[in-house]
Amino acid sequence: MRTLGLGKALVDRVEEHTLPVSLTFLTGDEAFIARRVDPLPSGFLDRETMNFRFSNHSWVLRVDGRTVLVDPCTGNGRTGRGPYFDGLDVPYLERLAAAGVSPESVDVVFSTHLHHDHCGWNTCWEEGSWVPTFPNAEYIFAEEEYRRWDPAGPPHANSFNPNVFDECVRPVTEAGLARVVPLPYEISPSLTVEPAPGHTLGHSVLALNSAGVRAYFTGDAFHHPVQLTRPELHLPGCDDLETAVATRRALVQRALNEGAFLFPAHFSAPHYGQLALDGDEVRFVPGGAVRATAG
Ligand SMILES: [Zn+2]
Repeated sequence: MRTLGLGKALVDRVEEHTLPVSLTFLTGDEAFIARRVDPLPSGFLDRETMNFRFSNHSWVLRVDGRTVLVDPCTGNGRTGRGPYFDGLDVPYLERLAAAGVSPESVDVVFSTHLHHDHCGWNTCWEEGSWVPTFPNAEYIFAEEEYRRWDPAGPPHANSFNPNVFDECVRPVTEAGLARVVPLPYEISPSLTVEPAPGHTLGHSVLALNSAGVRAYFTGDAFHHPVQLTRPELHLPGCDDLETAVATRRALVQRALNEGAFLFPAHFSAPHYGQLALDGDEVRFVPGGAVRATAG
């Protein structure tokens, strides 16, 4: 994907890998699928298998003189992450370099939440231990999300995601690179982390407001465009489903009101888009013109 210009921000996507997920986990409503999914690009549904292509990627933003890495995927050589995620050997850092970003040049690392596929490249394996991949970065963690996963805190019923805190968060904290912040939190004049709880207790989104262009980097608030039309649809694994649905409704309303772009963590190509109304039903409009302004 080419570099996108959003106001004065430049946005790149760095892919780790993709995997098939059955749309039937979300909905089996054939009339709804025919109306809202069939017109979308093919990655959102393979009619033969009823799978959609779940893209595992990060977003890189360059704005306000800072380079910000959003949701650094799962990482290579992990175990206990489940099928499709264990033992990856992917040239992720090379792809980051192809976007013009070296590990040393990342100023901020931000995870919308601390599931394994959103904080993996926080660290890499070096001489027998997990060490921070981005030595000059400030790693920003929403306080509630950090506490949610800290093994020193109270246990949570939703216990998948083993070892992620110890492998991907603790080494960063021990290196003095973690900044655990209450929300909302302003990263720079154009970028604010805002609470968007439900998928996990402390899930958040990154809001961009630059030269009149608005965008939300929404992590796992949405996994597939059907959830933009029907926010009650969900994949398994939420911490708090009722709150997740309310968060989706609120984000959809804001995106409609503001004409904002949405950049989810797992949408297939073109990976981002805007919303429109078809009667009173919300419709996903994939991609869209963004100004390619250097900034
Ligand atoms: Zn995810």
